[in-house]
Amino acid sequence: MFRKLMTFDEAKQTINQQLKPEPLGTEELALLEAHNRVLAEDIVSVLDIPPFNRSTVDGYAVKAEDTFGAEENRPAKLEVCGVVHIGEPPRISVAKGEAAEIVTGAPIPEGADAVVMVEDTDRKNNVLSVYGTVTRGENVMKKGTDIKKGETVLKKGQVLGSREIGVLAALGKATAKVHCVPTVAVLSTGAEVTEPGKKLPSGKIYDINAYSLSTAVLESGGNPVYLGVVPDERAELRKALERALACADMVITSGGVSVGPKDLMPQTVDALGKPGLIVCGVALKPGKPTTVALIGKKPVFALPGHPTSALLVFHLFVRPVIQLWAGKPAEEAAAVKAVAGARMFSAKGRKTFVMVKLKRAKSNRLIAEPVETGASGAITTLAKADGFVEIPENQQFIDANEEVAVTLLKDAV
Ligand code: AMP
Ligand code: MG
Repeated sequence: MFRKLMTFDEAKQTINQQLKPEPLGTEELALLEAHNRVLAEDIVSVLDIPPFNRSTVDGYAVKAEDTFGAEENRPAKLEVCGVVHIGEPPRISVAKGEAAEIVTGAPIPEGADAVVMVEDTDRKNNVLSVYGTVTRGENVMKKGTDIKKGETVLKKGQVLGSREIGVLAALGKATAKVHCVPTVAVLSTGAEVTEPGKKLPSGKIYDINAYSLSTAVLESGGNPVYLGVVPDERAELRKALERALACADMVITSGGVSVGPKDLMPQTVDALGKPGLIVCGVALKPGKPTTVALIGKKPVFALPGHPTSALLVFHLFVRPVIQLWAGKPAEEAAAVKAVAGARMFSAKGRKTFVMVKLKRAKSNRLIAEPVETGASGAITTLAKADGFVEIPENQQFIDANEEVAVTLLKDAV
């Protein structure tokens, strides 16, 4: 099959124009089920939190001015006027010269403006000696100091972790409106590819891509469905792809997209429906055979078989689509500035990605050392790399000691 390679930018544009990715939809879930999901609306508090002025210590609610001048050997003497119970409105108020027994979290009674810690008092019947001064507001958490009524406390697009779920609970919410999770079918191809956990027959290798890609789907906000390994047989491939399309919003395959006699993926995918192939090879290194099709509204990303290439191409083209579908705001890839530790060459006419390891030099500068790739098949390349450096299509190399931007792989690739 003759292939005119698209540039990286053309491929990106084509995918965006054809897919027009936007959030798939929303659903209302109970708080515990909403964990790790993407919030689909801003959360504005309809309450002040705390909802009343509350004591932060065990002790006595007083008028602060009644303690002014009190010291260790010159205690203020107050009369205990009653008890404030926790969990109910105070039934007493504090007048000048009085103190009300109170515990942590109980509401401050009318008339009091501070709380003396029990450790700073001594009580004989109803006579309270206070051995220190408190200022107005001391040991009182004011109504609304945590969250103000009307305040936006969580933003649309935030992932709901334990702290965010706690905030929702504080507001009395039992459910959260979250984005639907895109389902992504993942399948591997090739007669040599064997599922981990099985015995490895001679001539075979374990399936790396299904696992690295499925977890990358999870990290991007999608729900991967592993559909196993398919041999390079047109009919079997077709059947597996149809099954994948029926059960998922997107299909990711790896392998079978190069120009070998067993590389049947592009034609097989194209025959599944219209519009068919939209990207058929990209001027990239690694990742040149990257193939993308659209079957109805469902994209099929047919990634190269080499594990490093597959994961890099996922990061470049697939991750942004899943994130948009999942309602995650487009994120700037985390990048750091470093100095090239060696000359890095590009592939002629192709946008080149060089995997690098970061080291800290004595001068405290970061050095980006290219990771020996051997072949882009080496999974160790990815495990060793901290990130990658991009060399544009029209540039031959980056020289040693030149400043480079390193896109970090943590959580991304
Ligand atoms: P292909 O594009 O199918 O020719 O695959 C390119 C290289 O990647 C070959 O060496 C394959 O054995 C290897 N490969 C393909 N799929 C996988 C996979 N799922 N896991 C690990 N290696 C793979
Ligand atoms: Mg293959």
